[in-house]
Amino acid sequence: MNFSQLAVIEPVLKALTDAGYVAPTPIQEKAIPVVLHRHDLLACAQTGTGKTAAFAIPVLQLLAEDSAGGKKLDGIQVLVLTPTRELAIQVEESFRDYGKYLRFRSMTLFGGVSQVPQVEQLKRGVEILIATPGRLLDLVGQKLVDLSKLRYFILDEADRMLDMGFVHDVKKVLKLIPAKRQSLFFSATMPAEIRQLADTILFKPETVAVNPVSSTAEIIAQELHFVGKDDKREYLFALLEERQIDPVLVFTRTKYGADKLARFLHKKGIGAAAIHGDKSQGARQLALNSFKAGKLRALIATDIAARGIDIDELKWVVNYEIPNVAETYVHRIGRTGRAGSTGTAISLCDQEERAYIRDIEKLIGKKIPQRALRSLV
Ligand code: AMP
Repeated sequence: MNFSQLAVIEPVLKALTDAGYVAPTPIQEKAIPVVLHRHDLLACAQTGTGKTAAFAIPVLQLLAEDSAGGKKLDGIQVLVLTPTRELAIQVEESFRDYGKYLRFRSMTLFGGVSQVPQVEQLKRGVEILIATPGRLLDLVGQKLVDLSKLRYFILDEADRMLDMGFVHDVKKVLKLIPAKRQSLFFSATMPAEIRQLADTILFKPETVAVNPVSSTAEIIAQELHFVGKDDKREYLFALLEERQIDPVLVFTRTKYGADKLARFLHKKGIGAAAIHGDKSQGARQLALNSFKAGKLRALIATDIAARGIDIDELKWVVNYEIPNVAETYVHRIGRTGRAGSTGTAISLCDQEERAYIRDIEKLIGKKIPQRALRSLV
């Protein structure tokens, strides 16, 4: 299967070739035809499956259809709601990449930064808006955003949206957009609450799903290292050196822990930065960009800050602390082994965390192989 067999139009095909995409991923194969047929969509897919392109490609194509023959599009046509700013930025980059040979204007709206440049950009005109709920509602309240002409509504990472307490905001947004629209609903998991929310948004949706969360682990090598709590940072340092791990995304449970670890690694001569909710948006973006550009060897992140972070071909993830929610482990290690490439996830487990590992192994349905540093055995 290739993209032209999915009836993707020439300008988008060309952009996909530029991006180096050879074949659609399973979620793209299933979702693109549904969207192009102008059906509502309920999609169960997590990050790393190519879900963003699964909605961005066909939506761009529908906009191209809508504006065929030089017809002018009137106002904001597409709204993508995302739970985090980082995800909003990445989604917008995807629209920009795949739509580079089309002429639609896209932009992001999120809080934590001045609204002035956002408002100016809105005034210049935009067809595709990617927003977090808070800032969007704020600007609608100020009558600076008009959603009355909207035709396509996409809710991305709906389960995260719920986790982060945005459900009321999402419902408020629904009241602001036309009832007659096409809606696409993406979520990594589908608990009852999410299905209920989907029911209120979608009209006769087609459902597509790709492999459940736990099976992504197939292409990710997992290792469990038992380490005393107080020895963890030295162990991590030795591990990075012995295995020549570079670059690496390291997860900690707390913001304070992330900062402390980044400082420690830095002192040891390893370029490291921490990203978490207490850092300004600018500082987070700077750290992320340096990491992506290969200027930092280690990025230390808390779970919330890491949501939606998309780093192509990241080979290494370290769980410096084991998450107490098993699904979080799956989300964390899913940062590697993306779009078919392989990766390794290493978990450093102390005595108190052993119970969490048991929960995780139950969820993923296998035992994580135990390993140790060669220099220690
Ligand atoms: P997502 O699940 O949307 O976060 O995408 C995961 C990663 O896969 C992103 O880095 C995309 O650029 C990449 N990707 C998406 N679709 C394809 C494809 N068909 N071929 C190769 N890479 C892809």
